Amino acid sequence: MALDDYVWAAGVATDLVNTAPEVWHGADKLPDLATVAAFAEQHSIPVSTRPGDLRAVHRLRATVRDLIDHPAQARLITGATSLTSSVGDVSLDATSGRSRWTVSLRQGATVVDALSLICGVGILGVVQSLDVARFRACGAPACQGVFIDTTRPGRRRYCMPGLCGNRVNVANHRARKASELHHA
Ligand SMILES: [Zn+2]
Repeated sequence: MALDDYVWAAGVATDLVNTAPEVWHGADKLPDLATVAAFAEQHSIPVSTRPGDLRAVHRLRATVRDLIDHPAQARLITGATSLTSSVGDVSLDATSGRSRWTVSLRQGATVVDALSLICGVGILGVVQSLDVARFRACGAPACQGVFIDTTRPGRRRYCMPGLCGNRVNVANHRARKASELHHA
Protein backbone atom coordinates (compact mmCIF):
# COMPACT_ATOMS: atom_id res chain seq x y z
CA MET A 1 0.00 0.00 0.00
CA ALA A 2 1.05 3.58 -0.61
CA LEU A 3 2.31 5.27 2.56
CA ASP A 4 0.94 8.64 1.48
CA ASP A 5 -2.56 7.30 0.87
CA TYR A 6 -3.73 8.14 4.39
CA VAL A 7 -7.17 9.31 3.21
CA TRP A 8 -8.08 5.84 2.00
CA ALA A 9 -6.49 4.22 5.06
CA ALA A 10 -8.32 6.51 7.51
CA GLY A 11 -11.55 5.70 5.66
CA VAL A 12 -10.97 1.99 6.23
CA ALA A 13 -10.32 2.72 9.94
CA THR A 14 -13.58 4.69 10.15
CA ASP A 15 -15.55 1.95 8.40
CA LEU A 16 -14.01 -0.68 10.67
CA VAL A 17 -14.93 1.02 13.96
CA ASN A 18 -18.46 1.61 12.73
CA THR A 19 -19.10 -2.12 12.31
CA ALA A 20 -19.11 -2.48 16.12
CA PRO A 21 -22.22 -3.58 18.03
CA GLU A 22 -22.26 -0.34 20.05
CA VAL A 23 -22.98 1.53 16.81
CA TRP A 24 -25.75 -0.88 15.73
CA HIS A 25 -27.80 -1.33 18.91
CA GLY A 26 -26.01 -4.53 19.81
CA ALA A 27 -25.72 -6.13 16.37
CA ASP A 28 -22.14 -6.81 15.31
CA LYS A 29 -21.62 -6.17 11.58
CA LEU A 30 -18.53 -8.41 11.64
CA PRO A 31 -19.92 -11.48 13.45
CA ASP A 32 -17.75 -14.11 11.72
CA LEU A 33 -14.70 -14.60 9.53
CA ALA A 34 -16.76 -14.55 6.34
CA THR A 35 -17.98 -11.00 7.02
CA VAL A 36 -14.44 -9.95 7.92
CA ALA A 37 -13.22 -11.34 4.59
CA ALA A 38 -16.07 -9.57 2.79
CA PHE A 39 -15.21 -6.29 4.55
CA ALA A 40 -11.58 -6.65 3.43
CA GLU A 41 -12.60 -7.44 -0.13
CA GLN A 42 -14.98 -4.47 -0.22
CA HIS A 43 -12.00 -2.28 0.61
CA SER A 44 -9.73 -4.02 -1.96
CA ILE A 45 -7.60 -5.67 0.69
CA PRO A 46 -6.76 -9.09 -0.76
CA VAL A 47 -5.56 -11.21 2.15
CA SER A 48 -6.10 -14.61 3.67
CA THR A 49 -7.77 -15.32 7.00
CA ARG A 50 -6.80 -17.55 9.92
CA PRO A 51 -9.21 -18.91 12.57
CA GLY A 52 -7.95 -16.55 15.28
CA ASP A 53 -8.44 -13.50 13.07
CA LEU A 54 -12.03 -12.78 14.10
CA ARG A 55 -11.14 -12.09 17.73
CA ALA A 56 -8.03 -10.23 16.66
CA VAL A 57 -10.07 -8.00 14.33
CA HIS A 58 -12.54 -7.27 17.16
CA ARG A 59 -9.62 -6.37 19.42
CA LEU A 60 -8.15 -4.15 16.70
CA ARG A 61 -11.54 -2.47 16.23
CA ALA A 62 -11.72 -1.68 19.95
CA THR A 63 -8.15 -0.32 19.92
CA VAL A 64 -8.83 1.97 16.95
CA ARG A 65 -12.11 3.13 18.53
CA ASP A 66 -10.27 3.97 21.74
CA LEU A 67 -7.70 6.01 19.80
CA ILE A 68 -10.40 7.98 17.94
CA ASP A 69 -12.26 8.54 21.22
CA HIS A 70 -9.17 10.02 22.92
CA PRO A 71 -7.31 11.93 20.20
CA ALA A 72 -4.29 13.32 22.03
CA GLN A 73 -1.37 13.60 19.62
CA ALA A 74 1.21 11.60 21.60
CA ARG A 75 -1.34 8.88 22.33
CA LEU A 76 -2.40 8.66 18.69
CA ILE A 77 1.20 8.40 17.52
CA THR A 78 2.15 5.73 20.06
CA GLY A 79 -1.06 3.76 19.56
CA ALA A 80 -0.98 3.89 15.76
CA THR A 81 2.72 3.00 15.67
CA SER A 82 2.02 -0.20 17.57
CA LEU A 83 -0.47 -1.13 14.83
CA THR A 84 2.24 -1.12 12.17
CA SER A 85 4.22 -4.09 13.48
CA SER A 86 3.27 -6.21 10.44
CA VAL A 87 5.24 -4.01 8.03
CA GLY A 88 7.45 -6.07 5.76
CA ASP A 89 9.34 -3.69 3.49
CA VAL A 90 9.31 0.06 3.09
CA SER A 91 9.97 0.81 -0.56
CA LEU A 92 9.13 3.00 -3.55
CA ASP A 93 6.49 2.23 -6.15
CA ALA A 94 7.70 3.84 -9.38
CA THR A 95 5.28 2.14 -11.76
CA SER A 96 3.07 5.18 -12.35
CA GLY A 97 5.68 7.78 -13.27
CA ARG A 98 5.91 9.59 -9.96
CA SER A 99 7.37 7.33 -7.27
CA ARG A 100 5.53 6.89 -3.99
CA TRP A 101 6.52 5.51 -0.60
CA THR A 102 4.98 2.09 -0.10
CA VAL A 103 4.85 -0.49 2.64
CA SER A 104 4.23 -4.19 2.26
CA LEU A 105 3.03 -6.76 4.76
CA ARG A 106 5.49 -9.22 6.22
CA GLN A 107 5.34 -12.82 5.02
CA GLY A 108 2.41 -14.89 6.25
CA ALA A 109 0.35 -11.84 7.17
CA THR A 110 -3.42 -12.22 7.24
CA VAL A 111 -6.42 -9.92 7.20
CA VAL A 112 -5.90 -8.63 10.73
CA ASP A 113 -2.28 -7.68 9.95
CA ALA A 114 -3.43 -5.82 6.85
CA LEU A 115 -6.23 -3.96 8.65
CA SER A 116 -3.93 -3.16 11.54
CA LEU A 117 -1.27 -1.71 9.25
CA ILE A 118 -3.86 0.27 7.28
CA CYS A 119 -5.43 1.74 10.44
CA GLY A 120 -1.99 2.64 11.78
CA VAL A 121 -0.92 4.38 8.56
CA GLY A 122 -4.30 6.13 8.30
CA ILE A 123 -4.12 7.54 11.82
CA LEU A 124 -0.48 8.60 11.54
CA GLY A 125 -1.15 10.24 8.16
CA VAL A 126 -4.06 12.27 9.50
CA VAL A 127 -2.05 13.39 12.55
CA GLN A 128 0.83 14.41 10.26
CA SER A 129 -1.11 16.01 7.37
CA LEU A 130 -4.23 17.29 9.13
CA ASP A 131 -4.92 17.58 12.84
CA VAL A 132 -6.03 15.66 15.93
CA ALA A 133 -9.30 17.62 15.75
CA ARG A 134 -10.16 15.37 12.79
CA PHE A 135 -10.93 12.45 15.16
CA ARG A 136 -14.56 12.98 16.14
CA ALA A 137 -17.85 11.54 17.34
CA CYS A 138 -20.86 11.35 15.02
CA GLY A 139 -23.07 14.44 15.14
CA ALA A 140 -26.35 12.51 14.81
CA PRO A 141 -28.25 12.38 18.11
CA ALA A 142 -28.19 8.89 19.65
CA CYS A 143 -25.56 7.61 17.18
CA GLN A 144 -22.55 6.01 18.89
CA GLY A 145 -20.39 6.07 15.76
CA VAL A 146 -17.09 7.92 15.33
CA PHE A 147 -15.03 8.92 12.31
CA ILE A 148 -11.79 10.38 11.04
CA ASP A 149 -12.52 13.45 8.93
CA THR A 150 -10.22 13.58 5.90
CA THR A 151 -12.27 16.10 3.91
CA ARG A 152 -10.40 19.20 2.80
CA PRO A 153 -12.49 21.72 4.78
CA GLY A 154 -12.77 19.35 7.76
CA ARG A 155 -16.46 19.91 8.34
CA ARG A 156 -17.69 16.32 8.15
CA ARG A 157 -20.39 15.69 10.76
CA TYR A 158 -21.51 12.07 10.55
CA CYS A 159 -19.88 8.65 10.89
CA MET A 160 -21.91 7.29 7.96
CA PRO A 161 -23.00 10.36 5.98
CA GLY A 162 -25.48 8.43 3.81
CA LEU A 163 -27.16 6.98 6.86
CA CYS A 164 -26.76 9.32 9.84
CA GLY A 165 -26.92 12.49 7.72
CA ASN A 166 -30.15 11.30 6.11
CA ARG A 167 -31.64 10.34 9.45
CA VAL A 168 -31.01 13.84 10.77
CA ASN A 169 -32.50 15.39 7.62
CA VAL A 170 -35.61 13.22 7.89
CA ALA A 171 -35.99 14.05 11.59
CA ASN A 172 -35.61 17.77 10.89
CA HIS A 173 -38.09 17.52 8.04
CA ARG A 174 -40.64 15.74 10.27
CA ALA A 175 -40.14 18.27 13.05
CA ARG A 176 -40.72 21.10 10.58
CA LYS A 177 -43.84 19.42 9.20
CA ALA A 178 -45.15 18.79 12.70
CA SER A 179 -44.67 22.39 13.74
CA GLU A 180 -46.31 23.60 10.50
CA LEU A 181 -49.31 21.43 11.24
CA HIS A 182 -49.30 22.69 14.75
CA HIS A 183 -49.37 26.29 13.62
CA ALA A 184 -51.92 25.77 10.82
ZN1 LIG B 1 -23.46 8.18 12.99
